[in-house]
Amino acid sequence: MIKDNVHNILASLPPHVELLAACKGRTGLEIKEAINAGINIIGHNYIKEREETLRLLLRHKALADRNDIKCHFIGHLQKNKVKKAIKLFDLIETVDSFSLAELIDKEAKKEKRIMPVFIEINSAEEKQKFGILPYETKSLIDKIKTLEYVKVTGIMTMGPLLENVEDIRPYFKDTKKLFDEVKVNNPEIKYLSMGMSDSYKIAIEEGANLVRIGRMIFNGI
Ligand SMILES: *Cc1c(COP(=O)(O)O)cnc(C)c1O
Repeated sequence: MIKDNVHNILASLPPHVELLAACKGRTGLEIKEAINAGINIIGHNYIKEREETLRLLLRHKALADRNDIKCHFIGHLQKNKVKKAIKLFDLIETVDSFSLAELIDKEAKKEKRIMPVFIEINSAEEKQKFGILPYETKSLIDKIKTLEYVKVTGIMTMGPLLENVEDIRPYFKDTKKLFDEVKVNNPEIKYLSMGMSDSYKIAIEEGANLVRIGRMIFNGI
């Protein structure tokens, strides 16, 4: 079933759109099936789940040898987990403050690597949500530019959880507009990560080029 789901989603995506499998709560077996079906970007919300997936991948030689499988951190990154995140992930999608970027810079320097990150936008300006407010985004990106070991390569948003999924469209539209604005002075910002199982079609219509899908891959809904 996972295989069919991945094939159907991949077949429906325009060629410029990449698919990330959001793996929270999934078993190693499920993740392996998704990878075998053609997923090459996986997303984890938790460090611990990434460690479990890595152990699984290493046990399967065919998977362990594949260095084309990338892993993005898509959860909320606690400051005391930054060190591990740098070691375990190819990219962090959820940077939303300069202090977090500074910590990533410090730890990435120790690892002698430049860490690609996305800026997470709180596009609906919700009080209890993570992410930076849209109007603060440009100045955050400018500040992060002063850091040597962090590189902003994208913008990410969750958007609000709404009863009618169509109501999310204006937030995706606004985030695309912001993406286009920041790209002018930052050509290395290439990714616009938005859209989940319910909303990815709308997100793509509004300009997303990376969608993060969980339920539709693993449960078929
Ligand atoms: C779970 C999750 C998704 C995928 O959501 P689904 O509704 O399962 O498709 C995407 N992005 C983030 C950050 C998530 O935590």
